[in-house]
Amino acid sequence: MDGFEGRGAVITGGASGIGLATAAEFARRGARVVLADVDQPALEQAVAGLRHDGFKAHGVTCDVRHLDEMVHLADEAFRLLGQVDVVFSNAGIVIAGPIAQMTHDDWRWVIDIDLWGSIHAVEAFLPRLLEQGKGGHIAFTASFAGLVPNAGLGTYGVAKYGVVGLAETLAREVRDNGIGVSVLCPMVVETKLVSNSERIRGADYGLAATPDVTGSMGGLPAQDDTLGVDDVARLTADAILANRLYVLPHEAARHSIRRRFERIDRTFDEQAAAGWAH
Ligand code: NAD
Repeated sequence: MDGFEGRGAVITGGASGIGLATAAEFARRGARVVLADVDQPALEQAVAGLRHDGFKAHGVTCDVRHLDEMVHLADEAFRLLGQVDVVFSNAGIVIAGPIAQMTHDDWRWVIDIDLWGSIHAVEAFLPRLLEQGKGGHIAFTASFAGLVPNAGLGTYGVAKYGVVGLAETLAREVRDNGIGVSVLCPMVVETKLVSNSERIRGADYGLAATPDVTGSMGGLPAQDDTLGVDDVARLTADAILANRLYVLPHEAARHSIRRRFERIDRTFDEQAAAGWAH
């Protein structure tokens, strides 16, 4: 994509944090935006804030767990914007704690939102982008926890590894249609993610097993805390224009990612040394 001017963009989880900052960044660059979120009061406030700043913004209530709500979002977005060029599947929640302590409801909740939410975005928007025939871009928010194992974030990591896999595969499959794909994988960014997650968790999933997210994570590498949502938003918008698949705001992630691939690579040598010769 050569610019955001006059483009239509849809952002899930757009009422807060990374989603709202990125919607504002798209709008600053000339896009018209549709924010989607399950939190209606926060959504209304976010849209009012963007409009107050002179941007063209709409809000659509949508729970990304449900395909029919995502299809409704797509219908509304095309109706309100005329065309959709950018889809940013960003809505998410987090739950922390060792895998041994996770309940079935913990697994269901995190996968329903963090993985199914992005699958639903692809199901609802990809056919229409293909049909529109003007290219475009689909971006996802995964996480650093979607690239390397983080002890204490196992359920979240399973969902986010899935989002990374979805983005990587989709990028190959839609390249020839002029549709770019990006996947944002930040380390910790200051947002309301933890408090929002606890609040959003519905009665149908039971109470959270481990509300203290940060206390349950095992030894995250030290990172640059000065990066805020606006920096992440700028990098994401730049990555869309450059059609960069990975969006990696934190340099501190680099070492862990390299070590993961070195561990995988080393296994071939270890197997060969142990006599495996196929
Ligand atoms: P946030 O809580 O500020 O924003 C998330 C938004 O998603 C909220 O407005 C929330 O209402 C919405 N949401 C939650 N469940 C939803 C659902 N079922 N349907 C629709 N909307 C829903 O948090 P954030 O940090 O900005 O999170 C955005 C994304 O970034 C998430 O996918 C999160 O996993 C990811 N992420 C965040 C961090 C971090 O440290 N903040 C790090 C890595 C990845």
